[in-house]
Amino acid sequence: MSRQFRTSTSSTRNYAAGSFTAGRSSRGGSSNFSTSQRGGQGRRPTRSSGSGRSSGSNAPNPAATIFKATPFVEAETFGELDLPAAIVERLAYEGIIKPFPIQSATVADAVAGRDVLGRAETGSGKTLAFGLPMLARLARRPVTPYRPLGLVLVPTRELAMQVVDALTPIARGVGVELLLVAGGLPIGKQMNHLQRGVHIVVATPGRLTDLVDRGAARLDKVEIVVLDEADRMADMGFLPVVTAFLEDCPRDGQRLLFSATLDKDVDVLVRQHMHNPVVRSISPTTASVATMSHHVLVVSADEKADVTAHVANREGRSILFVRTKHGADRMAKALRTRGVLAASLHGDKTQSARTKVLDQFRDGTVPVLVATDVAARGIHVDDVGLVLHVDPPASSKDYLHRSGRTARAGGSGTVVMLALPQQRREVDDIIRDAGVRAEQTVISAKTDVLSGITGARVPSGIPVNEPSGPRESSRRPGRGRSPGGRNPRTPVGGAGRGRRTSGSGYRSA
Ligand code: AMP
Repeated sequence: MSRQFRTSTSSTRNYAAGSFTAGRSSRGGSSNFSTSQRGGQGRRPTRSSGSGRSSGSNAPNPAATIFKATPFVEAETFGELDLPAAIVERLAYEGIIKPFPIQSATVADAVAGRDVLGRAETGSGKTLAFGLPMLARLARRPVTPYRPLGLVLVPTRELAMQVVDALTPIARGVGVELLLVAGGLPIGKQMNHLQRGVHIVVATPGRLTDLVDRGAARLDKVEIVVLDEADRMADMGFLPVVTAFLEDCPRDGQRLLFSATLDKDVDVLVRQHMHNPVVRSISPTTASVATMSHHVLVVSADEKADVTAHVANREGRSILFVRTKHGADRMAKALRTRGVLAASLHGDKTQSARTKVLDQFRDGTVPVLVATDVAARGIHVDDVGLVLHVDPPASSKDYLHRSGRTARAGGSGTVVMLALPQQRREVDDIIRDAGVRAEQTVISAKTDVLSGITGARVPSGIPVNEPSGPRESSRRPGRGRSPGGRNPRTPVGGAGRGRRTSGSGYRSA
């Protein structure tokens, strides 16, 4: 059994431990988080709008905490991480054999019942990192009506679905039932399911609030809480309601928190609601930096549409980012008119429309997705070869988040940002703040350099139709049911690793 010990000086693949510093840090010294730092609870926020700031935000900023990450041993097999044999076998059946670094870093401690604070990028394997210890803990436990034993809070519906999808096949093997609790899906079914009793609720804060307020979900038996993408939940104004949920759960329960940063009061959450957590950091964008190339292509306004269409017409999956929902619809339509099969994804679509589009993108039916930033948060699809920022993002953070849709799960990817001549300075700032290196190249649709960087091809010019399914309409309750027939969940990306699809059952939830 060869195990590699990762230390803070390890640089082989940069999966090293490091400091996980609160964004407002002003102090050079380090203070490992300890239970003695847990402060009193803040005023209980109203759990309705998700707006406002958490109780901690008004508190005087104590000397910022540095959560010091500790080294970890990289495991060769899941069996080394103290998981039950049934789970290891089930993973192997799914083609998942060797833990990713974030899993090596966190699973054994979480299985041992410790709180874990993990820093890792999306696409790094976080779902299994928190999911497997939950399944190990709750395997074959009896359930009680309304009272789940585990709770996973995530910022978006899509992410909630992905978590349910990823965990369901393994959960089934160990007698654990998951329930997706998210808006856009019938609440009555979710209530019935809760009444029957489930082990784990995977929820977005909004819908869970509804269910808690109706008495359909009670959190007083929750033994293990996961906060995934806590920084995104903070961005979306959810921290007050997340705090309220944590206060509803037993205080001595286990907590696993994953976040890319600790700013925006995520650090307060950690100090107040975690108990002496094990802190593990997988260097940001490590896998990506090595495998992601960044390019800024300066293009004239006249040529931008052509360049966009040619790039979109490359082989393989691509995601195009634009700033507005209408812009996404317009661009998808314009691309289809030119012969590029594209679909849009944004927050105004019905849930079933969003699910359908993501399914089609995942299974390769639609190779080009045109998305807005908010929608980007839910896109977890492997083998996206290229991200094209058609409109520059609003910030470097958005740039990194959008770009992180490619080079996932150890794959490689190209990130291209288009800039009009007058946007060069703005784009420079974004690239610099994002901490990436990108060459600026002035191009036109016809230059070889464009196809060299992106694989761009001239589209056929023969209009194509969107595959059957919900149209690009705005949200209209009751519309957009996906047609029956083929299983839309068969992924293309997973096939190489021999993984199977889950068919999570969230549709029936
Ligand atoms: P996540 O960051 O949890 O969304 O995972 C990203 C992708 O990596 C998903 O497609 C997972 O199924 C896949 N994945 C996670 N862990 C492993 C692993 N240990 N081996 C192979 N694939 C994995």
